[in-house]
Amino acid sequence: EISACLVGSEMCIRDSYKHQSLSFHVNDSYWFQPTTLEELLSLKETHPTAKLIVGNTEVGIEMRLKAMEYNVFVNPSHVPDLLISTVKETGIEIGAAVTINGLRSFIEKVEAQMLTEGTAYRTRGLTAIRHMLTWFASNHIRNVACVGGNIVTASPISDLNPMLLACNAMLRIHSKSRGTRDLSIKEFFLAYRKVALEPDEILVSVFIPFTGEFEYVLPFKQARRREDDVSIVTAGMRVCLEPRTDRSRWVISDCSLGFGGMAPTAVQATKTAAAMIGLEWNYASIEVVFPILRQELSLPVTVPGGQSEYRMALTVSFLFKAYLTMTAEHTTYIADLPNASTLPTMPTVDDCEMSATFNFLTSEKTYSRGEQGYFDRQGECLHEPYTSSAQNSFPPAKETTPPPELSLIHI
Ligand code: FAD
Repeated sequence: EISACLVGSEMCIRDSYKHQSLSFHVNDSYWFQPTTLEELLSLKETHPTAKLIVGNTEVGIEMRLKAMEYNVFVNPSHVPDLLISTVKETGIEIGAAVTINGLRSFIEKVEAQMLTEGTAYRTRGLTAIRHMLTWFASNHIRNVACVGGNIVTASPISDLNPMLLACNAMLRIHSKSRGTRDLSIKEFFLAYRKVALEPDEILVSVFIPFTGEFEYVLPFKQARRREDDVSIVTAGMRVCLEPRTDRSRWVISDCSLGFGGMAPTAVQATKTAAAMIGLEWNYASIEVVFPILRQELSLPVTVPGGQSEYRMALTVSFLFKAYLTMTAEHTTYIADLPNASTLPTMPTVDDCEMSATFNFLTSEKTYSRGEQGYFDRQGECLHEPYTSSAQNSFPPAKETTPPPELSLIHI
């Protein structure tokens, strides 16, 4: 009876604790936690300067390190409309309050589904985003930081926004008085940390289209450290190839290039993309485009963050790596198609160039490991050195002889 009651009571407590709208206020500070979109929109209409807080990994930094003061906070992470992750006919829709890790695991599910349906090519864009997000901050941050927070913060070195620019993502924005509007992410970033969002509006979701059969998307990131480091330059590159009508060769039918760390906002290299469309897919064409890209995203030596030459060089080398990698991927893909013999051949990638297709973002993530041993004065190791690693699945390390000067303790 008691256990039933307990389970019963636990369940009724849990049910009774069903997300309730909460509000607290102390002096002039207010915290609201709505549970419906209507409530959230009303709150944003009543308090247009209110800060929406999900992971607090931006607002927390702004208040703690930049002394910015906010006094009205709204936590939207109990509003179901902002927590959706759905597969639509032509893409996926992700709620703005979905966490970075939530998006990663949802993409993994969609990839598995498409693989079983034999249409894995449709998730090339999503896979590129997942790869980029695997190196986004650390797991602590990825577990709380939300997709909408990254988009709306519009940091010039965001890792997600260049990918969404390359993938032609669409944003769904709501306000109580004007209802819904859909906006291409290409029109969202206005200036440094300034976005096309009215004070009474909120971002509800982002739509990321699937890729076509001959459409490729790649992520690129350069930072001083791989783990948990802000980027120097990031990029998302998407190219659609199509066989020329006479089936003699492949041409670029569409292309979009998103960059972070190259302007006060995440930007697109629109001139470069326009110059690429219609060109034949070969190295000579890409070589023609390099100076256009360098010109379009040129940085003065006085640019905040410095390293102007290095950053400009990174954009061109990312495009070169993208050309080689997409050529190799497309060659492999069309080789398995039933109508492969009717398709044009692809330019070849020399073996000596294949190393340039290496990209730590799209490679298996290896875990760091550490080793600690305690030695007595005679240099005898007192026990199996303890090995620690993120995965901790390594076999015990071999006995190592310590450098003579290192006799740590005599236990
Ligand atoms: P919050 O701080 O909760 O909110 C951020 C802003 O978004 C607020 O202004 C809020 O009002 C607004 N907002 C949130 N949701 C909505 C909505 N639905 N509609 C309208 N406005 C909304 N970023 C990277 O890109 N790459 C990194 O590698 C990276 N590393 C980081 C490492 C650390 C240690 C930290 C602290 C941050 C890092 N960031 C990184 C930045 C940060 O994690 C992201 O920008 C994150 O996605 C913000 O999400 P959040 O939920 O924490 O945002």
